[in-house]
Order: sequence, then structure tokens, then C-alpha cells
Amino acid sequence: MPSNGRLAGKNAVITGAAGGIGLETSILFAKEGASVLMADISEPALEKALAKVKQLIPDAAGQIATQKCDVSKEADVQALVEAVDAWGGLDVMFNNAGIMHAQDDDAVNTPEAIWDLTQNINVKGVWFGCKHAVLSLRKHKKKNASIINTASVVALVGAATPQLAYTASKGAVLALTRELAMVHAREGFRFNNLCPAPLNTPLLQDWLGDDQPKRQRREVHFPMGRFGEAVEQAQAVLFLASDESSFVNGHDFAVDGGMTKAYVTPEGPAAPAPQ
Ligand code: NAD
Repeated sequence: MPSNGRLAGKNAVITGAAGGIGLETSILFAKEGASVLMADISEPALEKALAKVKQLIPDAAGQIATQKCDVSKEADVQALVEAVDAWGGLDVMFNNAGIMHAQDDDAVNTPEAIWDLTQNINVKGVWFGCKHAVLSLRKHKKKNASIINTASVVALVGAATPQLAYTASKGAVLALTRELAMVHAREGFRFNNLCPAPLNTPLLQDWLGDDQPKRQRREVHFPMGRFGEAVEQAQAVLFLASDESSFVNGHDFAVDGGMTKAYVTPEGPAAPAPQ
């Protein structure tokens, strides 16, 4: 894809950048001229991800850096955001890191420790990211910034999966983002949610394993008959990060192939594809 410099001159921090949505977004941001600080809890995965970005976009090698960060630890998140001070301060923060634990279950069977772990990473991690983004933006007197938080379609429609801790955490992200969008609107800081539907990333692969019937039962719910791809989420994040979305604030951006609007039977959508 050709670059149009849609993020030229912007400094971006991306959490959960070692894989899936975070990695594809890092690639796209770098392609579009941003300086990108890629953060993840896994250092080896981060190094592999950095090598991939540099290989794909050799010209951007000087504008990409990595930093280990556990988003559930405030000191890590503060250090992450402050690392961008040397570049002139943050313009875009993508709070994307999240987990869905294998032991996450229904109200009866979800272990309390899994509940706490999930909220600590998925909700508290987003709060810390937003908090330190706001502090940095004020410090650098920025008047035009975009913060994007990754929620999920499970925060928009009920999931019968069950994965109570995960669903509750993503609902909290939706509400938190909306409030921040209102509170900081007149400072020029926009906050939006990305709401992905299930997509082909390591997170989903780990959950589905080799269970093909389970995969097919899930894919039935998609009008387009397939899961999404991480790069399709990254395209939406690019729009939300760029000035092209300058009047988009407090939005829940479902990138879901129509899933949250659909009632699809195993036969598929009503209209057959033209032969
Ligand atoms: P992924 O597992 O490929 O990527 C998540 C990344 O977050 C990993 O690299 C992981 O190491 C990192 N991470 C985990 N805990 C962390 C922590 N404490 N601090 C910093 N980094 C941490 O999965 P993905 O699908 O790209 O997930 C990205 C986001 O999208 C998550 O918030 C997830 O909940 C959300 N999401 C994913 C799907 C899906 O189907 N994959 C659907 C809806 C929402």
C-alpha cells in the first residue's frame, strides 16, 4: 500500500505492539510517517516485531523504537509515555494491550484471580495509558491529539461464549473512553473506542486451538462469512489517529464485518452472491 504521509510528524505509542492488531498498526503508522514507540510485556516478541517492521519499511527504521511495558503497572506506563518526551511529546496513544484468559468463564466458574488479572490489564492498563497521555499532552501544550482504546464487540452485544471477566473489562473500556472524550474535548484531545469482532490473531488462535467445529460455529455469525484480519483493524485505527477523523470523538468504532448488526443463519445472509 502506498504511503500518503497521513501521520507525518506525529509521535505514537502503541501497547500490545508485539502481535496482532498492535503489530499491524505499528507497521501502518510507520508507513504513514509517524514515529512509533512499540510497547509490549514480552520483550522477545517485541524484538521480533521490530525486526518485521524494519524489514517491511526500511526507510522508517530510524522512527521506530521499542520499550518493555506491563500496562497494569503505572510506573511502566509512565516511563513509556515519558520516553516520547525526547521526540517532542505524544500525539497519538493506542491503548491496545489486552488479554482473554483461558480460565475466564461464566459467573459461577470464573476464578477471582482471573477476574482481577483481566481487569488489571484490560481496564486499569487503559486508564493508566489515558492518564499519562493526558499528562504528557498538557506538559507539551498539545492541542490536537488522538487516544484510541481497544474494546471489543462483546461490549456492544451479548456474547454467549462465556468470558465474563473479559466482557466486563471491555464494557468498562467503552464507558471510560466515552467519559474521557467528554471531559477532555475542549482541550483538543479526542478519545475513541475500537471495537473489533473476533479476528485471526494469536489471541483468537490460542482460544480456538485446533477446534474447527468451534471456529465454524463462530464464523456463522459473520455476514461476510469470515473472521476479520488484524490489518483491517489497523486501517480503522489509522483513520482515528489521523486528522481525517478530527470531528470523531467518543465513538465506538465497530470493525466487525457487520456482525453487530446481523441476524445470520447457518445458510448465510439473505442475498445469494451473484454467480
Ligand atoms: P494478541 O494476543 O495478538 O496481542 C495482544 C498483545 O498484548 C500481545 O503481544 C501481548 O504480549 C500483549 N500484552 C498482554 N498483556 C500485556 C500487558 N500486561 N502489558 C503489555 N502488553 C501486554 O491479540 P490481539 O487480538 O491483537 O489483541 C489486541 C487487542 O484487541 C486486545 O485488547 C484484545 O482484547 C482486543 N480484541 C481482540 C479480538 C480478537 O479476536 N483477536 C477481538 C476483539 C478485541
